[in-house]
Amino acid sequence: MYTQPDLPYDFSALEPYIDAKTMEIHYSKHHATYTAKFNEALTGIETIAGNSVVEILKNLDKIPEAKRQAVINHGGGYLNHSFYWSIMTPGGKQLSDIDLKTAIINDFGSLEKFQELFTSEAMAVFGSGWAWLVKDNISSKLSIQKSLFQDNPISKSDVTPILTVDVWEHAYYLKHQNRRDNYLADWWHIINWEEVAKKFQS
Ligand code: MN
Repeated sequence: MYTQPDLPYDFSALEPYIDAKTMEIHYSKHHATYTAKFNEALTGIETIAGNSVVEILKNLDKIPEAKRQAVINHGGGYLNHSFYWSIMTPGGKQLSDIDLKTAIINDFGSLEKFQELFTSEAMAVFGSGWAWLVKDNISSKLSIQKSLFQDNPISKSDVTPILTVDVWEHAYYLKHQNRRDNYLADWWHIINWEEVAKKFQS
């Protein structure tokens, strides 16, 4: 059984960038439902007993075809939201990790250029989905990926996600309405770069 991890801060802690009501609904309705439905989808699948959600999403061929899409949707919804909560923190934490800083400069030119490109990729997700910063597991090179619905990049490529943003409208509509660009501009203020660096180093 998968359980929803505790939110590492209060619903109101990311104000004024993400409002308390959005956080409350996002965590206690959307994420909670993905968690419940993920458990439901896994019922009776013995091939993945003891596997982590990461292992499950990396090896979707082990999931019977009739259940595969439900596992992609709800397993992704479960993992993606847990990940998204973890890379945000009240007020944000600066990027001080030298290795990650160097990698971003090498692969994107500068932190500012990376943020510009990541924002434009997040803007370019058509409909509901996510933008990701991922590390290639062989070359360690960083790149940006987009995914639709609750797909996670690990299902399609050999990468480790280190940063993500949820661009489903439920992540920002109450405060920012249709202005995804305003949401993204706000979101950069609350990035937990310490946690992103930890994921990069892992
Ligand atoms: Mn969401």
